[in-house]
Parts: sequence; C-alpha cells; structure tokens
Amino acid sequence: MRPEDYIDIVGEEVIADIHRAAQLLSEKSVLHVNATYYGGGVAEMLHTILPLMNSMGLDADWSLLYGHPDLFQMTKKLHNGLQGEGVDISQAELATYLSVNEAFARYTPIMHDAVIIHDPQPLPSIHFRRKSQPWIWRCHIDPSVPSDHVWDLLKPYISEYDAMVVSAEAFRKPDLPVKTYIIPPAIDPFSTINRDMSSDEVNAKLAEYGIPQDKPLLVQVSRFDKWKDPVGVLDVFERVRKEIDCRLVMLGNMAGDDPEGPVIYRQVAARAEQMPDVHLITETDPALVNALQRSAAVVLQLSLKEGFGLTVSEALWKGTPVIATRVGGIPLQIEDGKMGYLTEPKDYQTMSERVLRILGDPNLGATLGAAGQEHVRKRFLMTRLLLDWLKLLNDVIRS
Ligand code: UDP
Repeated sequence: MRPEDYIDIVGEEVIADIHRAAQLLSEKSVLHVNATYYGGGVAEMLHTILPLMNSMGLDADWSLLYGHPDLFQMTKKLHNGLQGEGVDISQAELATYLSVNEAFARYTPIMHDAVIIHDPQPLPSIHFRRKSQPWIWRCHIDPSVPSDHVWDLLKPYISEYDAMVVSAEAFRKPDLPVKTYIIPPAIDPFSTINRDMSSDEVNAKLAEYGIPQDKPLLVQVSRFDKWKDPVGVLDVFERVRKEIDCRLVMLGNMAGDDPEGPVIYRQVAARAEQMPDVHLITETDPALVNALQRSAAVVLQLSLKEGFGLTVSEALWKGTPVIATRVGGIPLQIEDGKMGYLTEPKDYQTMSERVLRILGDPNLGATLGAAGQEHVRKRFLMTRLLLDWLKLLNDVIRS
C-alpha cells in the first residue's frame, strides 16, 4: 500500500502533506514493539501502518515481546490497573515482567533511529538498554485514573522515555516529565475488515456462520473482556427484544496477550444459553467483522473503559449507526445524536431506548450512519495516522 492509493477517499492535500513530512525521514529507521501479532486494535493498526511507513522510504520494523502465559496474566493486570482497577502484583510476577523485558532489550538488535514501544507489556525494556535513539511509549489504554499501585510501578519506566503518545487530550498525565503527543488511532479502508463488500459477499459470510437475516441485527465486535461489558450487551438485547424482535451477534476473538478472554467468554455463554437468537462467535475472521458491521441495524460498543475503540470507527465507516458509552476515545468518534448515541456505562435502560429509536425509524439509522462515515473520513483514516506519526518522528529524531 502507498498513500496515493487513498487519494480518492481522502483527497490530494493529505497525500501532499504526507510526502512533505516524509522527506526528511527517508533512510531513517524505526522499530515498533508490541506483544501480539493478532487480536486487538494495536496489532490491527501495525499491520497497515508499517507497510505505509516503508512505502515512504522510512525503514519500519516490528518486533514482538515474546512471553509465556504467566507474563500476560501479569501484564493484563497492568492493563486493568492503568484503567483504574485495584490489582495485586506479586514480587514473583514483577520479577518475570522485568526479566522478560531485560532479555528482550539485551537480545533484540536495535540499531534504529527511533523506537516505538506499544502498551505496558514491553514498557520497561527501555531500562535495560543503553539507548542511542529516542524512545516513544505509545499508550493505547486510557491511563487517566490508574490504580496508584500500578502507576507507582510504571511511572519510573515511562519517565525514561523521550516522548509518550496517548489517544485523547483527556489522557494526558500532568505529573509526567515526558513530552506527550495526542494521536488518536485510525482504521484502514482497504483492510479486510473495512474494504467494500458486495451484498452477495455479506450474505454469504453471514450464511457461513449460520446467522439468518430475518430480523434486525444488533452487533458488538469486541474481545471477550470485562471492560467491553459483554454481559451488559445481553442485558440491552433482552430489553430491546421485549419490544421489537431482533437478533444479537457478539463476535470476539481471543488476543494472544489477553488471558482473561476464555473466562469471560464462559460467563457470557452461560447467560446467553438461556436466550434465543444470540450468536456468540470466537473465530478470527476479519471478513466476518466487516460483514457484521455492514449488516447490523445498530452496532453496540458498551465499554466501561476504552482507549479508543477502533470498532466504533469501523462501523461508522460502513454507514452503520453506533450506540456506545461516553468513555475513553469513544466521544471523539461519536457526537451524541449525530452519528449514533452516547450513554453512560451500564445505563442499559437508555441504551435500549436508543436502540429501539433506531430500529423504529430506518431513515434515522441511515442519517446517523452517513454522518458517521463522513466524520471517520475526515479524522480516523490511516493516512491521518501516518501523517501524525511522520510529524512526531520528525520532531523526535531531529530534535
Ligand atoms: N476484532 C476482530 N475480531 C474480533 C474482535 C475484534 O478482528 O473478533 C478487531 C476489531 O475489528 C478491531 C480490533 O480487533 O479492529 C479491536 O480494536 P479496539 O480498539 O476496538 O479494541 P481493543 O481490542 O484494542 O481493546
């Protein structure tokens, strides 16, 4: 992929800006580090942003912090703690976390002009390396109200970085001595999740998974994670179904670095078993994500906490209205009543009223969806993200 491929969607100006920003970075190199090749929004974005960076002459690499399940149990606690949950981290867990990061720092060839570390899993690797380039910590989580314990643990490592990136202004940490950039995530209109799909393709994909299109579809696409409130989705569906017959699909694959997925899935499945017309799917199938977001009458994203929530922009891009919670980066993507509706987390009554409002008025859904598509075109496509990264790299590499 090259930025030029996006001209018809985003216009010439953005592409010219990208070329200007890339000029001084040609022959420079950057290393991205995260903890999983698949599952979750970070991996999803890296799969597109790396080829785009490379197409602009920047040499972009991607390394994985490999770890065993114990490490990811611990790092999920860090994730939960950054989002405000009280967590207990034992000395043994801390020792594993640091030793895996130390080994990574020692044995990974890092000759790049900049290093971008994604999320808490590889965060302390900086501490074990005599660095000769700027290091940037890209925090995809909402760290605005973390648990004290986790913040005290991570803050010294974050403070070693040259820069930090968060998704929204509200996530800025005033107590950190690190220059902070605000870069919201973005989606790729050409990826399998987002590319155009004919209605025949959509129908075939839904048929493959045994999902009839006999009733309006409510859809949530999210890892089975308590922060995505999957049980709340069932609650909303139950309320809506009392008024208008409909079907619910919850699609959530298992990310390699999220050990809580199977536990949460079993809780949801136990409750969903008693309910008709609920489909729970755990396959990794990006074309199914696409087909569901296209065929849904309403997409739900009922997160209790959310870094950004790529699934919101993905659904809006397809012209589907979204009902979501007013948390994290979601309000950047939805203005209440314009592209869908925002509610407080766990306000299932209001959520179900909003769903019923859309199901009862097909024109409303289409109007909200069209506004959503335009909003995403302007603010949340990959070309904007590429431009933001190039500007940041210009700033940190050359300063
Ligand atoms: N996703 C997917 N299959 C699934 C669930 C999610 O491909 O079963 C994708 C989803 O479409 C989105 C990403 O994974 O691109 C999730 O990113 P988001 O920011 O919504 O949440 P995260 O998982 O990073 O918390």
